[in-house]
Amino acid sequence: MNSDLIEVLVPIPLMEKFSYLPPKNSKVSLKQGARVLVPFGRRTLVGVIWSFSKKDSSDHRKYKHIKEVLDARPLLDSNSIDLAEWASRYYHYPLGEIISYFFPPSIRKGKEANFKESKYIELTSKGSFLKDEDLARTPGQKKLVSLLKEKREITIKSAKAFGISAAVINGLEQKGYISRFSRELSPYKKLENNKLLSSKKLNMEQAQAVEAIKESQGKNQTFLLDGITGSGKTEVYLQAIQEVVNKGKQALILIPEIGLAPQAEERFKEYFGDRVMSFHSAKNDREKVDAWLGASRGLVDIIIGTRSSVFLPMKNLGMIVVDEEHDLSFKQMDKFRYSARDMALYRAKIEKVPVVLASATPSLETLKNAQENKYKVLKLSKRATGANLPTFQAVDLRGKELNEGLTNELLEATQLELSQGNQVLIFLNRRGYAPSMICKVCGWISNCERCDALMTVHKNPLKLHCHHCEAQKAYPNLCPSCDSNDFLSYGFGTERIEEFLNNHFPKVTTLRIDSDSTRKKESLNEYFHEVRQGKPMILLGTQLLAKGHHFPDVTLVGIVDADSGLFSADFRGSERVAQLMTQVSGRAGRDKKPGRVILQSYCPDHPQIEEIITGSYDRFAKRLLEERKASKIPPFSFQAKIFAESPRSLISRDFILNLLNKTKIDEKIKANVRIVGPLPSIMEKKSGVYRWELSIFSKNRSNLHKFLDVMQSRLYDPKLSKQVRWSIDVDPLSSI
Ligand code: ADP
Ligand code: ZN
Ligand code: ZN
Repeated sequence: MNSDLIEVLVPIPLMEKFSYLPPKNSKVSLKQGARVLVPFGRRTLVGVIWSFSKKDSSDHRKYKHIKEVLDARPLLDSNSIDLAEWASRYYHYPLGEIISYFFPPSIRKGKEANFKESKYIELTSKGSFLKDEDLARTPGQKKLVSLLKEKREITIKSAKAFGISAAVINGLEQKGYISRFSRELSPYKKLENNKLLSSKKLNMEQAQAVEAIKESQGKNQTFLLDGITGSGKTEVYLQAIQEVVNKGKQALILIPEIGLAPQAEERFKEYFGDRVMSFHSAKNDREKVDAWLGASRGLVDIIIGTRSSVFLPMKNLGMIVVDEEHDLSFKQMDKFRYSARDMALYRAKIEKVPVVLASATPSLETLKNAQENKYKVLKLSKRATGANLPTFQAVDLRGKELNEGLTNELLEATQLELSQGNQVLIFLNRRGYAPSMICKVCGWISNCERCDALMTVHKNPLKLHCHHCEAQKAYPNLCPSCDSNDFLSYGFGTERIEEFLNNHFPKVTTLRIDSDSTRKKESLNEYFHEVRQGKPMILLGTQLLAKGHHFPDVTLVGIVDADSGLFSADFRGSERVAQLMTQVSGRAGRDKKPGRVILQSYCPDHPQIEEIITGSYDRFAKRLLEERKASKIPPFSFQAKIFAESPRSLISRDFILNLLNKTKIDEKIKANVRIVGPLPSIMEKKSGVYRWELSIFSKNRSNLHKFLDVMQSRLYDPKLSKQVRWSIDVDPLSSI
């Protein structure tokens, strides 16, 4: 490209692009999407070439030169570039920082975007004329030359295995008889026949769903695959993807939890063999680069990955699946606050491919779009194995004697299932031993000094731990306030229930599965492996257990505390709880044996508990949608938040007030948004800072974005306040 100036994106938190002159003395052609090294202040940064422009004759600024071009071929294609630009506008986040999400860490830092390379040697043309007698006095060199004549090329490693020394290689190289070269070793092989290795005979609803998805090949169409737990949604998209792969295209499957990756990868490999890769944070850098290259060069057919995989460049994308589309983990909650589901929808639009959103408990946003026929609904109403949905029973906790949080009803039911050789899942979404510690003498309580929260008691190892800021403290021997040692651990966490269950059912294994017990990379997988052996046991755990897992031998699910979250201050709280309860209940009776669910509650008559008991997420969602419509909150309006955090509450509040009062906003824009706040966040103090937020609602998106554009241009003004960290959240999902 012939141009004077090159706009380069650099990973810094500013909205602008920076212009550079072409590198001195370099003939490498400059292409959009290729990486370059550029001087930036006193540093050198890795940037990405974005655009080209002519230098204005009135422009007398002094530009610096690009230091080095790192890629002869661009790493990002135009689709990725469109996606990044859209995301920057939509989320009001700097493009230069967004671009770094498109690369694995080492490529981001400027390392070569190549597979592992091997070093080879071969004969030069001069070398190929050598005759045996020419090297009669150097038997090592003679041996190597005859090897190369026979094999044409060998790796340096294998030369050494033939007993050839480095000195021999160097000697021949210096004389110009041999030369070295490197070649990438692709870990992927091209499979000749992509035959479905194993597939199930679909029921009628499944077959119709697969047909509908297949028909949408090459078009942008969003499907909501709305099927109850265990209805065979995975089977449906597996078979639809077959068509994609047969046409030589690739499929991208987004899953919510890294813990689900091994299960998903295994199932896809049963179908598609080796050209399936997963991409998530537990992979090391080499593995990430290999998956990234495999995807971008079209060497893998199927990529299964967590949130950030939505940025993977794919040579020939044919379909995107977002499994458990309602799941909160698709939304990044800090820095670049994107939703991978929504980015997937936009990406599918620009790449003209279908998207399948799959869930047993679709989000209200998605349900609304489906009601408005923006999405095509594919309904699966029966369990694929022929099993029924579990039956529900609520146990009223009022006036009951409890055994460490558990009722006799639940314990007896557990005993019964275990004695019949089945597995039981006990669900409590709270890790640790007890959520607080109280001094019985003076009432001291284990407050976290840095958060508006209590520190959780952990027994193994013994300590106090704040789950909000990760602060840890020794477990006090004496009360910090009155020196007594008469404490009460108040409330229940998974460790405490585990202790009780181990005593109560000493002959049965209780597997505690929460983020404490699965810190090691492989442990979650090992646990699931043990569960699938099918021996009678109790699985006790948090939401890690709730999502997407297929445990064929679980016949009873006990929900210890069905009330948690019922009275949340966040208007999205009840949607979350209903999804979680329905999902965890859906782990029961998925195979041949029927399942049941026991919910412990202090308010079993609450409409939400009733709706869960009757197994009707649909009915619940309908009611909630009506409520949201009446109060004009999302999805019946669009929302964004501006957060401010600082060491003092008033500074955070005043920052937002100043922003509002001192920014000139067009009356027309103002009239079209509803502003709520500034208000302190639900947990105002967290990790030692005070958080305030401003909520902005609007009937239409473009008004919301116009308002945010004005705010954004002011927010970058350094005079506003140096003590405040701010952020913009478009489509916020929870109060944090
Ligand atoms: P979901 O994704 O809806 O939770 P899955 O696709 O995991 O459901 O299916 C649940 C179980 O039913 C799995 O064990 C799966 O192998 C089985 N299954 C799915 N479809 C069929 C079918 N058509 N016939 C028999 N079994 C099926
Ligand atoms: Zn005390
Ligand atoms: Zn804390």
